[in-house]
Amino acid sequence: MTDRVAIITGGSRGIGRATALAAAARGYKVVVGYASNQAAANEVVASIEAKNGKAIAVKCDVGSESAILALFAAADAFGTLGALVNNGGIVGKSGVRVDEMSAERIQRMMAVNVTGSILCAREAVKRMSTRHGGKGGVIVNVSSVAAKLGSANTYVDYAASKGAIDSFTVGLGHEVAGDGIRVAAIRPGLIDTEIHASGGEPDRAHRLAHMVPMKRVGTADEIAKAILWLMSDDASYVTGAILDVSGGR
Ligand code: NAP
Repeated sequence: MTDRVAIITGGSRGIGRATALAAAARGYKVVVGYASNQAAANEVVASIEAKNGKAIAVKCDVGSESAILALFAAADAFGTLGALVNNGGIVGKSGVRVDEMSAERIQRMMAVNVTGSILCAREAVKRMSTRHGGKGGVIVNVSSVAAKLGSANTYVDYAASKGAIDSFTVGLGHEVAGDGIRVAAIRPGLIDTEIHASGGEPDRAHRLAHMVPMKRVGTADEIAKAILWLMSDDASYVTGAILDVSGGR
């Protein structure tokens, strides 16, 4: 158990929501980041408070540096930061080839999924690093098996953004290993969340389930459990590591 603060970007729905609830159950004071769905974020906070946990909802589009700074300022007022889960992320419209992609689409993809995660990590390191007088902590980046599969004919820009997250996880893990901070990434496979609808294909995960060695989609709770393990002292010798939670995909 811990009484420190965990920031979960995109904590209002899907994997982030499941992670926020699980973190609160471990005693974390949870900062539930959300991009626009305030009602969903408020529901997560209410669910945590109903079990005597502590949580606040903070609007933060991680594509905006000023919003990230405001998110961390709100977290500072809430308590001492112990964990960051870089979960908030987007896909573009599914089925768009690279020769059809606009610069705006690609730039937005990288701004949210890559720059946003790196800037959040920067702010977390400033607070958690023993080099800066901090108490250490954990950063978990939510990547995707798309990083290794490439997502041809689906969304290669998204896959490339997650490839960047994998490299960042290894590099940052090594960089702050002496600062009391562990860094790891989770690569989820096909998980049953609303992200597929946002890519224009609500049934995508179930349609492709037969291609998963375990022949089923995963749940947000199954990803959250792996994230919470990485956040825990049970993973005390894990850093710069990437864990596939994908049914073998
Ligand atoms: P989801 O159900 O669509 O939920 C997305 C969450 O991220 C929501 O809380 C949303 O906030 C937030 N969000 C969206 N845009 C954001 C932005 N610009 N800045 C900050 N937060 C933002 O997605 P999910 O499936 O849980 O995905 C979570 C993470 O897992 C993503 O990084 C995704 O790439 C990764 N992932 C998912 C799968 C999968 O199959 N589901 C597989 C591999 C990796 P609002 O509620 O305000 O919209």
